[in-house]
Amino acid sequence: MPNVASILRNSAAAHPDAIAIKLDDIELSYAALDQLSAKLAGMLAAKGIAKGDRVAIVSPNIPQMPVVYYGILRYGAVVVPLNPLLKSREVAYHLQDSQTSLVFAWEGVLAEVAPGAEAAGADLISIDALLIPTLSGHEALSPITEAAGDDTAVILYTSGTTGRPKGAELTHSNLLGNAEVSRSLHDVGVGDVIFGGLPFFHIFGQTCALNEAIMSGATVTLLPRFDPAKALEIIQRDQVTIFEGVPTMYIGLLRVPDRERFDLSSLKVAVSGGAALPLEVLREFESAFGAPILEGYGLSETSPVVSFNQRDGIRKAGSIGTAVRGAQLRIMNDDGEPVAAGEVGEMAVAGPYVMKGYWRNPEATAAAIRDGWFYTGDLARQDEDGVYFIVDRKKDMILRGGYNVYPREVEEVLYQHPAVAEAAVIGRPDPDHGEEIIAVVALKADAPGAAPPEQLAEEIRDFVKDRIAAYKYPREVRIVEALPKGPTGKILKREIKA
Ligand code: AMP
Repeated sequence: MPNVASILRNSAAAHPDAIAIKLDDIELSYAALDQLSAKLAGMLAAKGIAKGDRVAIVSPNIPQMPVVYYGILRYGAVVVPLNPLLKSREVAYHLQDSQTSLVFAWEGVLAEVAPGAEAAGADLISIDALLIPTLSGHEALSPITEAAGDDTAVILYTSGTTGRPKGAELTHSNLLGNAEVSRSLHDVGVGDVIFGGLPFFHIFGQTCALNEAIMSGATVTLLPRFDPAKALEIIQRDQVTIFEGVPTMYIGLLRVPDRERFDLSSLKVAVSGGAALPLEVLREFESAFGAPILEGYGLSETSPVVSFNQRDGIRKAGSIGTAVRGAQLRIMNDDGEPVAAGEVGEMAVAGPYVMKGYWRNPEATAAAIRDGWFYTGDLARQDEDGVYFIVDRKKDMILRGGYNVYPREVEEVLYQHPAVAEAAVIGRPDPDHGEEIIAVVALKADAPGAAPPEQLAEEIRDFVKDRIAAYKYPREVRIVEALPKGPTGKILKREIKA
């Protein structure tokens, strides 16, 4: 089985001078990226790192990140990508849990990473302007370590449904297979420019922007910190053809006040995943930007993509499409049996993209993978055409007065209100109903009318009340500046509840 890093070597052989990675006016050609990653492998050898050892990367999307990523992989060590926003205590936890001995960290986060690394007894190398000159002093270790089918390539930490973050062990074969399937869905090739705003430490950005591009000989243009106006500028400047994003990014792009002044005609397709894309946002984006958004679904544990809407095949707005090649999907009841067609149950996945298991955590692995099926914690149903719809996360379901309320359904209605930019619906413990339905919304900057907030909140509540069954509408609407979001832009319901 090839090593993930073989995609870089193959593309470097086929088109050495094509640009692989770009950040504003810094460009790395395929030949340069390949050569630098071989030198990084040489550096690991000089440091006495063994094959299979864990090496962490704590970095935003900057050009050095893929140098380190492919360097660790080609050497045969295991990458532990960490979110650069982690605090030192969290860094220490992740390093200790993964038994990582060496950390590469971007200079901008050393203040948090250094104490974390010290507590975990790991060595630290700064990713700064000196990294590349330092690498040039190392011998390039060109041969790529062969990877066995189930050799772990990456340990990706994910909070999963409960408890402390767990490390999903993804193999070379998991990652390569999924990058290949994702590449074929988006029809990526040489000459394509992929927007690199999704963080590479998260599975969506790693597979669908980084590995997918490198495998195809395409260019990834980086945006280390997402800013919607800057994103539009980059699309225009670099003639981006494929935009990969999470729903909050699309919401952000639509809110850029003077977006008409950008020429975005290079965009062929946009891809959404990571969270439910509100229908209203999909429609607005397609009419404003002239490119279709194809929605897919997946998780860290599934490398990630397991279902997708096809550009020229089955496509239904609001759905996650059909299973991608190789992935098996099944909707299960609480007894682990498939539900009848049209009924809601838990989405389970089998096939080549499912992780090996959670790193050193057999209990969590056994709880998540049962009889060969990985249970996602997402509630889903399949329609008469075999198309899948995510109803909601199992744990986000609200039980009000004996009725199941799926927040996503209520949020879809909130997004139809002209003043609402972002919405989240949560359950609050309630002595009479078990849980009460609360909506938290952020307003559009150009929200029509100047009603005082209290009045507007009431108006939004009534708007939903008129459009949805009585047990589902939010009894209280709270207006906030902005909703709390995770590193990939997902709205954090746990924080809103707290
Ligand atoms: P992560 O492991 O961080 O990638 O998160 C995976 C979770 O994101 C899934 O379990 C879903 O709850 C959610 N998710 C991903 N894609 C979609 C989608 N298209 N629609 C709804 N939820 C999604």
